[in-house]
Amino acid sequence: MTINLVIEGLVLLKMKINKIEPQGYCGGVIKALKIIDDVINNENTKKPIYLLGQIIHNSHVIDDLKSKGVIVLEDKTKKRLDLLDEIESGTVIFSAHGVEPRVYEKAKAKGLEYIDASCPYVLVVHNKIKEHLNNGYEVIYIGTKNHPEVEGVLGISDKIKFISNTSDIKNLNITSDKIYATNQTTLSIFDIEDIFKSLKAKYPSIIIDDKICNATTIRQEAMKNQPDADLCIVVGDPNSSNTKKLYKVSKEIRKINTVLCEDLESLDKNILKNVNVVNITSGASTPSYIVDEIIEYLNKR
Ligand code: SF4
Repeated sequence: MTINLVIEGLVLLKMKINKIEPQGYCGGVIKALKIIDDVINNENTKKPIYLLGQIIHNSHVIDDLKSKGVIVLEDKTKKRLDLLDEIESGTVIFSAHGVEPRVYEKAKAKGLEYIDASCPYVLVVHNKIKEHLNNGYEVIYIGTKNHPEVEGVLGISDKIKFISNTSDIKNLNITSDKIYATNQTTLSIFDIEDIFKSLKAKYPSIIIDDKICNATTIRQEAMKNQPDADLCIVVGDPNSSNTKKLYKVSKEIRKINTVLCEDLESLDKNILKNVNVVNITSGASTPSYIVDEIIEYLNKR
């Protein structure tokens, strides 16, 4: 809504705000948060409750869980398999990003109760990769280095060939004509097209299985089709893969001046000078109240 105030001939334009939809929590995040809520509220849950890595990439959500007594194990230098060494007893929850098979085995061997909050889309990728490895395929997996979802997939087998961009393809040296390629669920729908095309050019018999999830696809398409604006604000955690991709689509494909901020506090207010129209969206792991706070602030300016 735009309200114009006229004061003795001076027209003050109120900022126009376009909320880009869909935005905010995806189905996988809602499911993971419901699981952890149930675990916390179940009086039979063995304590203490641990989270193996961040359940989703959002510091506000993590802080809220910590305030409810959940112990969050995070160390970027350690794999989730190694983080398990820090747990002696109680219940451990695996994050929405999925974990490698050895994590389940180790948790069982340690006698821990474990709860799997992996997103079903990620588990489909795990199962497809296992199936193709069992059927004698060479498997190529496309993803972002050091992302927990990638760690979980690469832990399935050391035979999986990992690439993150088209230039990595030249290092692939596969002689078999049974090749299967798939990908991390939150990559850019625009980048992946080029990577798949280059793979197909090098290996014509390759099976391409695009596994970017529906939530990621429709949010990125909404970013590409957003209306003209002076500024686009993408709200989300800087560690969230899908949030970073929304920023990239807005800035590089839609070519709109775009900023990524975690919350109202971290939004640089100086960039709002001379901005009349602003688009706003959020990553799939961003709570809606954070976006609402920013919109309220913009409305008051
Ligand atoms: S972004 Fe996609 S893969 Fe990730 S949790 Fe949401 S639905 Fe699952």
